[in-house]
Amino acid sequence: MVKEKYKKIASHPKMISGIHNYCDKWCERCRFITRCAVGVMELEDKKDNPEGLSLDSPEFFNKLHGIFADTFEMIREWAKKNGVDVDAPIPDEYWIQQDKIDKNAKEHICAKASLRYLDMVRKWMDDSSDDFKKKAAALMKEASLELPGTSPEMKALEIKDAVDAIIWFHTLIHVKLMRAVQQIFDDEPEELEDYPKDYDGSAKVALIGMDNSIDAWKTLLAHFPENEDDILKMLAHLQKLRTRTEQEFPGARSFKRPGFDGIE
Ligand code: SF4
Repeated sequence: MVKEKYKKIASHPKMISGIHNYCDKWCERCRFITRCAVGVMELEDKKDNPEGLSLDSPEFFNKLHGIFADTFEMIREWAKKNGVDVDAPIPDEYWIQQDKIDKNAKEHICAKASLRYLDMVRKWMDDSSDDFKKKAAALMKEASLELPGTSPEMKALEIKDAVDAIIWFHTLIHVKLMRAVQQIFDDEPEELEDYPKDYDGSAKVALIGMDNSIDAWKTLLAHFPENEDDILKMLAHLQKLRTRTEQEFPGARSFKRPGFDGIE
């Protein structure tokens, strides 16, 4: 059972509690994968299904169903221990309040600007396939010439890494900022005034995503100088978003994330 397996892994002393709450979810590149219960579950899954399950296979849906059932079961157990009745009807006021929070959050400058960035990247992905094909052809030609002092393989790798990072982070930045601003609009005050704020943790993950994306765009700029205008627009937008996020969440950069920032 997934639940039992997860509990066993999570209780191992080498695991870092809560590390997965403030990470970028890029497990295959995570240096803590063997110390994170979610990461270890991923590794175990890969062992069982090295190719991954097809999205339209019955095994995929059975597995998904099992994960949701186990997750619900764990929530139930936690709720029971903490005196929370998960079966109690949710009052209308709760939904009205949530709706208000969502509407306010969507209007927040960081939410709007990160959504705009997400759209810009999607459009760039749609529009740049010819540029990448041309670059691949040029690098293959360069490789065939075997000129001393050139490294087309290294260039191809740098471009691939940069594109992977841009694609990975363009959604994460928006998702994490939405989460952070939703918490800002939540009327419920956080329990302890001096305790680290969850919204700062979410904003920090978004900021790190922006740092990595800015580096990735700079790499692409070096390889695609002919696309300078488009790339500079992306960089300018991201840099403004980063500055604004730092202003809106002044505690974000100093937020200590379990594992990543030395807290265990
Ligand atoms: S901490 Fe690392 S291994 Fe764990 S969920 Fe996040 S990215 Fe994946």
